[in-house]
Amino acid sequence: MAANEADAFLLEAVQKGDQQAWRDLIERYQGRLTSFARRMLAHRGDAEDLVQETFLGFLRSLPNFDHSRPLETYLFAILRHKLHDQFRKVQKGQRQSLDQLELEDTPEAWLDTETPSGHLVGKEKLAAQRAALVDCLRQWVDQCRTQQRFQDLIVVEMLMVLGLRNKEVAADLGLRETAVAGVKFRVLEQWRKLTGSAPGAPEWREADLARDSSVARIWREEGISCLKRSTMGRFLLGVLDQDWNTYIDFHVNMAGCDRCRANLDDLRSEDELDTKWRTRLRERCFTSSVGFLSRSPQ
Ligand SMILES: [Zn+2]
Repeated sequence: MAANEADAFLLEAVQKGDQQAWRDLIERYQGRLTSFARRMLAHRGDAEDLVQETFLGFLRSLPNFDHSRPLETYLFAILRHKLHDQFRKVQKGQRQSLDQLELEDTPEAWLDTETPSGHLVGKEKLAAQRAALVDCLRQWVDQCRTQQRFQDLIVVEMLMVLGLRNKEVAADLGLRETAVAGVKFRVLEQWRKLTGSAPGAPEWREADLARDSSVARIWREEGISCLKRSTMGRFLLGVLDQDWNTYIDFHVNMAGCDRCRANLDDLRSEDELDTKWRTRLRERCFTSSVGFLSRSPQ
């Protein structure tokens, strides 16, 4: 079963109040979420507390969950939100961690279970436009990967994630500046084709590729170019070809994707599977949240 199908299957069961499905869902995501939180917090216990709260927050906001969003993106957004709250509470000593976290404004609307219905219509429209855009960008990333156009992908991440200028991108990749401009032109053409005349689609100008554009913000928030867990598993097994390895190394280490790094850490630690720890954390998350499961609408 493909990862997103498994998610959909679990989610459907969870919404019906299926306790085993809720356990399975926790089990599936707790490792990567804990690895992520562990990178930001000094103590394992604090990381586990936040993971527990993340699952609780997820169940509480489940009625508002947009099923077109990847579950992982949503869970990481809740965790980021919790981390942000945590850092706000502590002293300035930990400021740097907050900067590292690089918080985008976590869409609070997803976490808000009591949205007035009047706002809902506008929000739904915006959410639909955003979902359409995200869908197109993901399609483009898939195309780049299947056609092995990794350099285009790297250039886009250098611009939108790292915020580099043409000149810097060119220097890093050993290209001429005109070649970088050529990649940008081509990418914008491809995006224009993909989004077509969908309502709310950007007109696609060069500025959309800059780090401070709203497209770039959505790119980072949604983890548009984040890797599938199965791909990362193959990366760790060393069975991918060189272009893939170079790209993954870039995405995780140069572009510094915390989410993919957390997944890699989690996959690495699965080998030395600490079953006791996994069971303990899962049961803890389960016990603290299961009350909300039964209260969810059927
Ligand atoms: Zn990533």
